[in-house]
Amino acid sequence: MRIYAVFGNPINHSKSPFLHNFVFENLNIDAKYVRFCLKNANDFRDIFFRYGFSGANITVPFKETLLESCDEIKGIATKIGAINTIIRVDSKLFGYNTDAIGFYNSVFSYKNAFKNALIIGAGGSAKAIAFILKEHNIKVTIINKTPKRLDFFRDNGFACGLSSDFSVYKHEIFDIIINATSSSINDELPLDSAILSHCFANAKLAIDLMYGKKCKFLELAKKRRIHTLDGTKMLLYQAIEASYLFLKSQSKNSNIKYKNIENAMFKAYKIIKH
Ligand code: NDP
Repeated sequence: MRIYAVFGNPINHSKSPFLHNFVFENLNIDAKYVRFCLKNANDFRDIFFRYGFSGANITVPFKETLLESCDEIKGIATKIGAINTIIRVDSKLFGYNTDAIGFYNSVFSYKNAFKNALIIGAGGSAKAIAFILKEHNIKVTIINKTPKRLDFFRDNGFACGLSSDFSVYKHEIFDIIINATSSSINDELPLDSAILSHCFANAKLAIDLMYGKKCKFLELAKKRRIHTLDGTKMLLYQAIEASYLFLKSQSKNSNIKYKNIENAMFKAYKIIKH
């Protein structure tokens, strides 16, 4: 039996085990998916090989740090500088990023509604979203609480600034506002509420990447009568891509079809949505 895991800290809230195990069961794959609370990024490789994992998903706060633990980085992850999926082939680890395509697929039905996006937060998920929106010709501005993580975005040609420096983005009109911080995990707003209300004034869609509980950010957006989306759909779409990578690269059964994974994942999604 192959074993996969999602590594993060905290990790108890993660719905990834449910989604992936649902697919394995539905498609008769002899595999299991578990949670792993990682204390220290330096221990990752040792733990991964000691427990004999075949692959992994990576979540907060390790998407950037665990890039270093891979032997090779593939696809859009090379630009983004953050991974959320690792595949083991023999004794090598290959890092991928399925958050970017997962995010884009989750907002696909709104895609004509926006041209100008504000991303709050500058961590691993913000990088994935910034690159995929840029690839689709959407202008992206990134703001963050502290300056260090903004260097990456500035170096890659994105408009960016400190959240507290309102003068930088005060006059922009954003039609999509994305909370890509982990503020909602702690039931906090990512930004001062008066500033957020100002940003929401012309927005059409507000997204919080967190899923599974109410959050102040989307509650405030609803009060401003803006469409809202939490992170459940992004979770679903990134998981479909990750599952396909796991099964395509490692299954002896060559009949694994993307469509079958997608169908099973949608069934699982309907269950977690209720
Ligand atoms: P990282 O740890 O890489 O980055 C965290 C970011 O949040 C940093 O920019 C940090 O700012 C900022 N931040 C943390 N706390 C606060 C706060 N109280 N107020 C304002 N900013 C804050 O996290 P990720 O990018 O990996 O994930 C961010 C969120 O997205 C998490 O909630 C995660 O669960 C969710 N997520 C959901 C996915 C889905 O499929 N639905 C996929 C990926 C992520 P600073 O640099 O100043 O410390």
